[in-house]
Amino acid sequence: MAIKDMLQRFPRRRLLNSETPVERLDRMSDLLSLDLWLKRDDLTGLGLGGNKTRQLEFYFGEALAQGADTVLITGAVQSNFVRSAAAAAARLGLEAVLQLEQRVPDMGALYHSSGNVLLGKILGAEHISYPMGEDEAGADHALHQRAETLRAEGRRPYVIHLGIDHPPLGALGYVLGGEELNRQISDFDVAVVPSGSGATHAGLLTGLRLVGQTAPVYGICVRRDQEQQSARLKTVLKKLADMMGFGPSLTLNDILTWDGALAPGYGIIGDTTREALTLMARTEGVFLDPVYTAKTFAGLLGLLKEGRIQPGQKVVMLHTGGLPALFGYQTELEGPGRV
Ligand SMILES: *Cc1c(COP(=O)(O)O)cnc(C)c1O
Repeated sequence: MAIKDMLQRFPRRRLLNSETPVERLDRMSDLLSLDLWLKRDDLTGLGLGGNKTRQLEFYFGEALAQGADTVLITGAVQSNFVRSAAAAAARLGLEAVLQLEQRVPDMGALYHSSGNVLLGKILGAEHISYPMGEDEAGADHALHQRAETLRAEGRRPYVIHLGIDHPPLGALGYVLGGEELNRQISDFDVAVVPSGSGATHAGLLTGLRLVGQTAPVYGICVRRDQEQQSARLKTVLKKLADMMGFGPSLTLNDILTWDGALAPGYGIIGDTTREALTLMARTEGVFLDPVYTAKTFAGLLGLLKEGRIQPGQKVVMLHTGGLPALFGYQTELEGPGRV
């Protein structure tokens, strides 16, 4: 069955106006002895772009189908998901409630005020805060409490859940993203993607397998170690296969994660993160973000070093955006021995 037919019963509200480009990185290819390509999902268009735009097409599709007037979402203080959701809400004439979790310790003032936080305020979203960073169920519960208050006031809230026990609607956007990528470039040897909630990784892998692409898809861990992330991905892939109505055996044996670029932890910039970020900017004029894509590129470099990616191979990396966070991390990026 075609992907289009499998997705028929999921309401989708289009937020991307066109396909995103795939570009060859000529100078970086020479430098690394690779044939390196970048899928530019930092250029998805809506509200400074990024991977969440594809995911939100299905969340807002469902929200609109339910007649919602307010969308509630939770994430890290510099979350691109909450910023993108607020931008989508603005475009569609809905209200947005953004719950910001204190996931990253010891951050400076700019982290709490600039980058995505500033954009959320410009978008006019309501901001609430959640004191914990590693409590997905608690964060969802707090969001539901806010939703109940809104409902009592006569509003019609729709909650975008963080927890893994909910259907991974956002992954559907990356099933289509995988199909799109394979249409643009299909003769690659390895794909490299960030793996956070796993929606992007699971969706892309599923989309690629459904169109017959067999190349390995490495998920670079940005939040949890390899073991935890592989377990998480398994759950997301199963749920996704159930939702779409095919057997999970298509994808379950294909889970590849790598956590060699995760240190010092989620949302914290280490030397390898900073080096990857500046190497890409200074070689290609392409910006990576400090939380996800710099770690993903550091992961690609690590896989190359370990021989899991071989010289001469055709490699495609997914650029998932996140660039507003550069400004939220200004203090952590600048300084002696830094940029
Ligand atoms: C959220 C995010 C990711 C991780 O995507 P998941 O679907 O949660 O795994 C990667 N890169 C950027 C820039 C993000 O904002």
